[in-house]
Order: sequence, then C-alpha cells, then structure tokens
Amino acid sequence: MLKTPKKKMYIYADNAATTKMSPSAIAAMVVTANEVWGNPSSLYTTGQKAKEALEQARKNVAQIIGAQPREVYFTSGGSEADNQALRSAAAIGAKKGKKHIISTAFEHHAILHTLKALEKEGFEVTLLPVHAEGIVRPEELAAAIRPDTCLVSIMTANNEIGTIQPIRELGAICREKGVLFHTDAVQAVGHLPINVAEDNIDMLSASAHKFHGPKGVGFLYVKKGIPLTNLIEGGAQERGKRAGTENVPGIIAMVTALKDAEAARETTAARLTVLRDRLIAELSRIPPSALNGDPVRRLPSNVNFCFEGIEGESLLLLLDDLGISASSGSACTSGSLDPSHVLLAIGRVHDVAHGSLRLSLGDDATEEQVDYIAAQVAQVVEHLRGFSPVWRDLKEGKRQFIL
Ligand SMILES: *Cc1c(COP(=O)(O)O)cnc(C)c1O
Repeated sequence: MLKTPKKKMYIYADNAATTKMSPSAIAAMVVTANEVWGNPSSLYTTGQKAKEALEQARKNVAQIIGAQPREVYFTSGGSEADNQALRSAAAIGAKKGKKHIISTAFEHHAILHTLKALEKEGFEVTLLPVHAEGIVRPEELAAAIRPDTCLVSIMTANNEIGTIQPIRELGAICREKGVLFHTDAVQAVGHLPINVAEDNIDMLSASAHKFHGPKGVGFLYVKKGIPLTNLIEGGAQERGKRAGTENVPGIIAMVTALKDAEAARETTAARLTVLRDRLIAELSRIPPSALNGDPVRRLPSNVNFCFEGIEGESLLLLLDDLGISASSGSACTSGSLDPSHVLLAIGRVHDVAHGSLRLSLGDDATEEQVDYIAAQVAQVVEHLRGFSPVWRDLKEGKRQFIL
C-alpha cells in the first residue's frame, strides 16, 4: 500500500508542458485589455495607442533575442511559428529546385508533422540521429547537407529530455554552406541565453506559455531578406505575413513575462541546476533506472527518467494522488499508447520507454519539494513493481534487465 505522506505537498512539475502565468503578465494583460483595447490598424488615437504598444513590444522582443524589430512576427504560439518557418523555407527551396530538408528524429510534432506533410508534397527529409545523449553531432549535420538542401531545422532544447543542442555551431555550418537554419527555441527562450545574430540563426520559434506568459501567443524571428509564406491570409498585419487583428493583450503579457524571465534567467538557472542534480541523484537510487539524455547539457529544470518494470501512466496517476503533477513525455502524446518518439530516438526500447517520467521544475522549486518528489516517486515505483508481471519476470530471470 502507498503511504500517505505526513505533510502532503502540491507540486506542479510539468513546466515543459506549460507554465503558470506570472502575476505581472496577468496584470499586464488586464491593464492592456482595459486601457489599450483599440485595433492597431485603426487610425484614430485609440487604435494608434494599441499600435504603439504593439511596436514597443516588438522592440523589446527583438532586443532580448538580438534581432531587429522588423524581424519579429507575432503568432498564435510555437506550433504556428514552426509551421510558418518550415513552409516558408520549403517555398524558397522549391523555387530553386532544392527540395531536401534536414531535421532531427526528436523534434516537436509541430515540426515532424509539418515535415511529413512536406514529404507528401515532394520534399525529401533527412532526420539526423541524436544518439544516446540526445544531442546532434555537428559533423553529422555537415555530412548530411547536400547541394539541394534548402533548410535545416533543429530544436534548441528538447521538450521531453531537455537536452541542449550546439546551436551556434550548427548554425555556423549552415551559414557556411548557404542553407537556411531554423530552430524551435520554444523550450529555450526565457530559460537559456539566445542571440540570433551570434548564434547564426535565420529563423526561430518561441511560445509565451513556456515562460509564464499566456497561451495562444508566440513569435517567429525571421532574418531580414528571407521571404515568408503566409499560413493565414487576410489583412496586412505583421508586415502582410500574418493576417488577423493582433492579440495585443496577449502580446504585451508575453513581453512582460519575457522581460522578467530574462532578468532572472541566470540566477534561476543556477538555482535550478543544483535542485535538478539533487533530484537526479535521488532518483538514481531507485534502480534499475536511467536518466534520459545528457546529464549536463540539459535544461536546468529538466529531469527525465526511465524506471524498468513499470508503466508510466500508472506512475503519473499515483503521483497525482500524492500531489505531484508530472508527465511521461510530451503533453501532446499522452493519451496515446505509443512510447515517446524522443525516448525511442535516444535508443530506449519500447518496454523501457513506457516507464518514463518527466519532471520539469518550476522557477520557484525548493529543496523540500525536490525531496518530496524523490520520496514519492520511490514509493510509487516500488508499489507498482510489486504487482507488475514484467517486474516478476525480471526478478525470476525469465526476462533480461535492460537498464
Ligand atoms: C510547447 C512546444 C511547442 C508548441 O508551442 P505552442 O505554443 O503550444 O503551440 C513547440 N515546440 C516545442 C519544443 C514545445 O515545447
């Protein structure tokens, strides 16, 4: 039986799926909705006030990522930005007869599913391996680029295992070979240092709800001179490249959250890194288990483990009863019984990938929370192994341990 903890805690440890809006972002949203509610395309004062707020927000985003304001396009979030980046690069490539795209096996589905659609339209896609450590090797990218390659799209940090890619180096290879480089930086913006100029990035996707801004708003950075393809036709908003009346309250709230995240970024990262490593050390004491992804080159908030002989879904449900919100991978794939494509990409076999747990710590995580999580995971894993037929077979030697 599971022991009820003496002091039950409530811990949200799924910040890679979404984050809670910060009080300052909520306040900015409310103030904007109340006071700057005009349509930015309207010529009278009420509209122009909204236009000014919008353009100030664009300047702020640009400054934070090292871009020019005209290179920032507001979108409905990360998925839209990813789709538009890929569609635009594909259109540019097709015009020149270049229809080869390079990406990785562990991208977000916003990328992978768009690539699938492009394959149906005659594009050829190469997915680079990410190896056991969950990191792309620059020399393998260099070797994969062909004369007909029109785009390389590699995420800055993975949303399931948190591994950080050598973006600057990958970008430099693309620059040298004259290939467009896009990065899905949804997990990185507000959490890792990013400068599109220094990091050789041509296109970058970001989403507000991953850094304590609202859901349904994000941005796409596109280097000057790269023509965008519209996903949404209509009015002339966003330099004619993304129609629809701008979500001014959402955009202002996003920028407020981004500024706060940026201001606290280094101290938060340093603090979380210590807590992350403490949690990794604690969970390593529940063998057979294994950390997924490189232990060091990963987001300060991310811990992802496989526990042999259990089923991730039951683990999550029991943890929820104990006050812990966690995930077995990406929020987008839960509900399906397929093991995570990310865990398969780093070489985990199906059985082991099923017993996975992703914990993504909040900025306000504490040592007490981390210890609570570790203690509860330990007892739930033991409990589940107690009546797992797979575990019994492993114990009786009818099945080989993998981890
Ligand atoms: C969350 C996420 C997305 C999707 O962003 P939305 O704003 O939810 O559409 C894309 N890529 C990565 C890596 C993500 O973590």
